[in-house]
Amino acid sequence: MTRLFEDRAYGPEPIANSYWPTTASPPHYASLSGGHSCDTAIIGAGYTGLNAALNLAQAGQDVVVLEAEQPGWGASGRNGGFCCLGGSASGFTAMSRQVGRDGALAYLHAEREAVDFVRARLSEYGIDADSHSRGETRLAHSPSAAARMRDEAGAIRDIYGIEAEFLPREALASHGLTSPEFHAALTIPVGFALNPMKYVSGLARAVEAAGVRLYGSSAVTGLNTAPDGKHLLQMAQGEVRATNLIIATNGYSSETLPPWLGGRYLPVPSAIITTRVLTEGELAAQGWTSRQMCYDSRHLLHYFRLLPDNRMLFGLRAAWRCTEGGDAATLLQARADFDRFFPAWKDVEITHHWSGLICLSRNLTPFAGPVPGMTRAWAALCYHGNGVAMGSYAGALLAAQITGRGPATPALMTRGLRRFELGRWRRAILPLIYGWYGLMDRRS
Ligand SMILES: Cc1cc2nc3c(=O)[nH]c(=O)nc-3n(C[C@H](O)[C@H](O)[C@H](O)COP(=O)(O)OP(=O)(O)OC[C@H]3O[C@@H](n4cnc5c(N)ncnc54)[C@H](O)[C@@H]3O)c2cc1C
Repeated sequence: MTRLFEDRAYGPEPIANSYWPTTASPPHYASLSGGHSCDTAIIGAGYTGLNAALNLAQAGQDVVVLEAEQPGWGASGRNGGFCCLGGSASGFTAMSRQVGRDGALAYLHAEREAVDFVRARLSEYGIDADSHSRGETRLAHSPSAAARMRDEAGAIRDIYGIEAEFLPREALASHGLTSPEFHAALTIPVGFALNPMKYVSGLARAVEAAGVRLYGSSAVTGLNTAPDGKHLLQMAQGEVRATNLIIATNGYSSETLPPWLGGRYLPVPSAIITTRVLTEGELAAQGWTSRQMCYDSRHLLHYFRLLPDNRMLFGLRAAWRCTEGGDAATLLQARADFDRFFPAWKDVEITHHWSGLICLSRNLTPFAGPVPGMTRAWAALCYHGNGVAMGSYAGALLAAQITGRGPATPALMTRGLRRFELGRWRRAILPLIYGWYGLMDRRS
């Protein structure tokens, strides 16, 4: 597989000290061997692939899911668990330019549907994923960001039809959101937080119970077309022959599987730390008792939430190099930012830290549609760091495209993925983007 980052990004090191496996056993499935055939073969067992598999099995299809490592090994088992609106990094005006105002509204409606979809999945399959938080809360990192936020509540009402609640700086303490860093808050009452490992493990169990053949340690290394038009997927120990193919590899995609993907997605590292369990006294000392899932208003945003067991989870953009040095620099940055946000906790130990790859597109919008130039092949990826809800829903959208039953995919999500200008070398734009966004964050 030809991938964009250092080998370390695709190995065990970035999750060696993740908090989530201490809360739930990661799924484990045997590898595939020998020859198999099915209606639909799915490459990648994260939220996208597993949700597609479940819906296809419910529609009566015979499905095989092939995962290079284990289900949830990618971003789906290591994220911050914010199940919220999002998936696109493009604004409403830019989206309207691409697909018209109605098209942009249809996409934003899908973002809400995506959150409801995950809630229904948890409930239908009895997955207890430690949910909490009444929607999401954005915190203004500067006085000018606070001023903009005050106006945003109206825009959110117009676009989403949702009543967002604005809190001025003086009201933050009474909501358990005390920090010298923040100047106001805006709560959008859609979404909730979950334990990503419990969600993905529950999904894997549901998929298996629905009759899907789910394989771990089964990296697809070759993709060909048989004379009868079927897809032929090659693994080290076996082969799968499938009428339909779904690519659900997001930030862990390769340049050649299929070749169309080359140059059309951009993985970006993100990292998380968690503290030890904080005492009630420590929570009171900081004045942070809120269970809301929060993020700041920076372009290079931080995301954080008090977990049900009173550990603080704190996420941020990671170094653009996936090396030992890059990880060490990210950890130092995380500690410095955390201490600035929560000065009363500056001596509290960080017990876990880990990282993974999110995925951007050149269009700045997610993709869920047929793969151009291939017959009966689909892909869904590029959720811009917001794939808990949108990735899950994109899986369901692909299943609907294949079976002709289920929700319609918004036009914005089927508009092919544009190539990045630097192709194979596109990762070089990351330090430039970080530098530019960092400058904007300091100025705004
Ligand atoms: C640190 C971090 C924090 C995040 N926080 C949030 C958050 O709070 N909220 C939110 O909404 N989103 C968050 N995200 C993003 C979210 O986790 C992802 O968008 C989502 O999990 C993508 O799911 P997926 O199934 O498409 O891809 P993944 O879960 O990444 O799964 C892709 C899978 O494909 C497999 N694969 C790749 N190539 C092959 C091959 N050739 N053969 C077989 N298998 C293959 C990989 O091993 C991998 O398991 C975060 C991501 C990271 C990394």
